[in-house]
Amino acid sequence: MKGCYVDDLDMSAAAETLSEDSASPGTSAHGSLKAPHATDKHIVHWFRKGLRLHDNPALREGLTDAVTFRCVFIIDPWYASSSNVGINKWRFLLQCLEDLDRSLRKLNSRLFVVRGQPTDALPKLFREWGTTALTFEEDPEPFGRIRDKNIMTKCHEIGISVISRVSHTLYKLDKIIECNGGKAPLTYHQFQAIIASMPPPPPAEAMISMQALNGATTPLTDDHDDRFGVPTLEELGFKTEGLKPPVWIGGESEALARLERHLERIAWLASFGRPKMTPQSLLASPTGLSPYLRFGCLSSRLFYYQLTELYKRVKHVCPPLSLHGQILWREFFYCAATRNLNFDRMKGNPICVQIPWEKNQEAIAKWANAQTGFPWIDSIMIQLREEGWIHHISRHAVACFLTRGNLWISWEEGMKVFDELILDADWSINAGMWMWLSCSSFFHQFFHYYCPVRFGRKIDPNGDFIRKYIPVLKDMPTQYIHEPWTAPAEVQRAARCVVGRDYPLPMVDHTKVSQINIERIKQVYAQLAKFKPQGSINPQVVARPQSSPSPTSMITSIYQSNSAVNLCSQSSDAQSTTTTAPPHFKEA
Ligand code: FAD
Repeated sequence: MKGCYVDDLDMSAAAETLSEDSASPGTSAHGSLKAPHATDKHIVHWFRKGLRLHDNPALREGLTDAVTFRCVFIIDPWYASSSNVGINKWRFLLQCLEDLDRSLRKLNSRLFVVRGQPTDALPKLFREWGTTALTFEEDPEPFGRIRDKNIMTKCHEIGISVISRVSHTLYKLDKIIECNGGKAPLTYHQFQAIIASMPPPPPAEAMISMQALNGATTPLTDDHDDRFGVPTLEELGFKTEGLKPPVWIGGESEALARLERHLERIAWLASFGRPKMTPQSLLASPTGLSPYLRFGCLSSRLFYYQLTELYKRVKHVCPPLSLHGQILWREFFYCAATRNLNFDRMKGNPICVQIPWEKNQEAIAKWANAQTGFPWIDSIMIQLREEGWIHHISRHAVACFLTRGNLWISWEEGMKVFDELILDADWSINAGMWMWLSCSSFFHQFFHYYCPVRFGRKIDPNGDFIRKYIPVLKDMPTQYIHEPWTAPAEVQRAARCVVGRDYPLPMVDHTKVSQINIERIKQVYAQLAKFKPQGSINPQVVARPQSSPSPTSMITSIYQSNSAVNLCSQSSDAQSTTTTAPPHFKEA
């Protein structure tokens, strides 16, 4: 959601500073509720990510000795309707805000949803409310860091103290970089070695309770709902007619309920092993956490330590680092991106291989709008558009198809579509994983590619997933469901789906183009080898972890077996120690 609300301002907005008309704290401005005492502490907590009351160290610290507190979230309504951010994401965000408002009401407070630009709105509110301190969660992403630095400077000039604390990531990323000699570790192995040498992440803090308020109150006015209520989608300019009910419900309460279910599931898996991957596994799960971690409805540290506790209960010993594999991959990408302003683009991005992708708007549109003619790819893209989430292996399939697999289109284009539609789209992880999948960074085994027919058939042999999302194919016999264009004309007619009329013809000859693309990328790597010190980019060598599953090997293990990954076993992933991917990755 880059640029849509305060936590994701674009570069120009980030470079702005607070406007000069900010008054000093304690000014008895027109409209202020009461003249604050010169030494009183009046705080504003600014929510951006971190939409929660548990593990909120900045707010907790701000509340110490505070007389009043106000929690704000800033939305620019003009931007909302004109932005390139999907309605599902806006709905999820608004649900998060409603949930926060409900939780704050229990503390006799409210959420203040402020309409405007933070650089205009905040100083006005500081003056109106007699604010003396601003608190917020430290933003780990580069644009947020610039914005926050400017705001801190401005606050300093106008005498407002600032409390900013790390709580979106497990660690202070700068510390990891510092321990790595000033550079972000770019292999997971290196990353793991560094965090293993550091003290463990701080524990998650408790939920903000009445006790934590210490008597601090929130002055409220009768017009609160009019001025600061959570807007509706319609108020933000969205048309909601025909909008399906949400598959994912935003908010901290939902996140905490999911965490509980997630841990129960992990405990079950520890005893019984991972169930076989079925088409059902591709659907949104009530234990899924990624959108909640993305918006900060769930603290990554709470997740980390609850996993630790669970492991200790089951195994009676301290867990290996690898237990936290997924959440550490999140940390890895955040760390790789935190000082790289160009992490989400090819040009000027020092870690990205420069591949001469083709520009083809028509092909991008077909991919994004589920019109490729490959039912496996199209059904995933429909699920994405309708529900705002797709499984990790589905992401691999569509990302590979768009880039080096079939269409030879830049990963940046796919990343933008994910950014628009996926609820968990994180600036750092999304770009990182797109670079990974396109062999532009982190992963270089370009000869492994996902066939849009055979890979789909392995995961969804009967085509149940396809039939769910592409009803026009529901009567296509199973033998043709992944390649309907190969069905004889009479079979197509009997299934009431004539390919080319009712469902698109395949947009490429996937066998041919995949071969061409492998040759193309081989050439890029051959060129690169001439300029790079030997061994620095070697497709035979995967940037891989020592003991926790890589984003690719993780899939491999899910895909391969029904019991390969036991999350509570010391050797949690047999695949992680191999450099060679299993045969199904070699389909071309
Ligand atoms: P779990 O598998 O239960 O994992 C728990 C958490 O660990 C996730 O919520 C996420 O925060 C983190 N995580 C899991 N896998 C990865 C990974 N490979 N890299 C980094 N962190 C990981 N994940 C995002 O959170 N945001 C993104 O923007 C994102 N973009 C992606 C783009 C592509 C092209 C691909 C292939 C993957 C992307 N992923 C992204 C990673 C992964 O697909 C999702 O995190 C996962 O599907 C979420 O499902 P879950 O909640 O069941 O997570």
